[in-house]
Amino acid sequence: MTNSLDVYLASPRGFCAGVVLAVDIVELALKKYGAPVYVKHQIVHNPIVVAETERKGAITVEQVTDVPEGSVVVFSAHGSPPSDYEEAERRNLTVLDATCPLVKRVHNEAKKYAREGMKIILVGHRGHQEVIGSTGQTEMALIDEREGIDVPEFDGAQGVAVLTQTTLSVRDTAEAIDRIRARYPKALVRNDICYATTNRQEAASQLAELVELVLVIGAQNSSNCNRLKEVAESYGVKAFLINGPDELQRSWFDGVTRIGITSGASTPESSVEAVIKAINPKNVIHVGKGDENITFRLPAELQATKREAAGAGPRT
Ligand code: SF4
Repeated sequence: MTNSLDVYLASPRGFCAGVVLAVDIVELALKKYGAPVYVKHQIVHNPIVVAETERKGAITVEQVTDVPEGSVVVFSAHGSPPSDYEEAERRNLTVLDATCPLVKRVHNEAKKYAREGMKIILVGHRGHQEVIGSTGQTEMALIDEREGIDVPEFDGAQGVAVLTQTTLSVRDTAEAIDRIRARYPKALVRNDICYATTNRQEAASQLAELVELVLVIGAQNSSNCNRLKEVAESYGVKAFLINGPDELQRSWFDGVTRIGITSGASTPESSVEAVIKAINPKNVIHVGKGDENITFRLPAELQATKREAAGAGPRT
């Protein structure tokens, strides 16, 4: 494209520990059980990652009822309601659970507070897969700040616990929580926005202060990618969410000399590299606090397969 531009590259960006775990689970399930392995919902919200798992033998379906009886199924990183596990049992499926441990923590909190007799409010986006999984755990009210912040009225003296979707905007969620606290000053508020979301939003804020245009690389249905775009826009900077270089538009670059690039937690680094290559910048300048050092443990039933795969050579 041009070589007179500077690219400012956010760090951290891209895959989080939960996405690495989920993709590993699908790949190891294919090694252990052979193809096909079914995946309930996109394993993570990125078409390139999904296509790669499907190339290796995974079949993505939307409902547990779409999985043939007796098959192996991986439940996606976003988490699933208990009804999905019950249906899997009825269908005699072998379930490998790729729910991110940080989403699972939200499920456990919800069940614990419900057992303690508290009323629960979840701040999250209606219809998102993670919210479908979390709201299925127990009775709770949902506040979706995009629909307005309508704080529910609860009777009696029971406590109120507030949970959040893990991939929300830190800033928008703080506003929703302020409104809930104004109604319930003693509410127990958990900060469930995960480290990966928080770190990527912080790095995107730093980028937005340095550049004239921000490109977020990732999928349109990725919650955390959309939040990164909004963070950049909140600084008055033009921002676009694209899957890769094919979606770049020359007009975006008119009069621009500094471009910021970041990517969501489900975006492979190859997509970022392809965009940088297409832009062909004069310099690439790194911005942010750098890589994360977090990993999650594989489910016990796949650890031996992982050791065997490691002994047999590098992962393909
Ligand atoms: S974005 Fe956060 S909650 Fe979602 S998979 Fe990654 S670490 Fe887990």
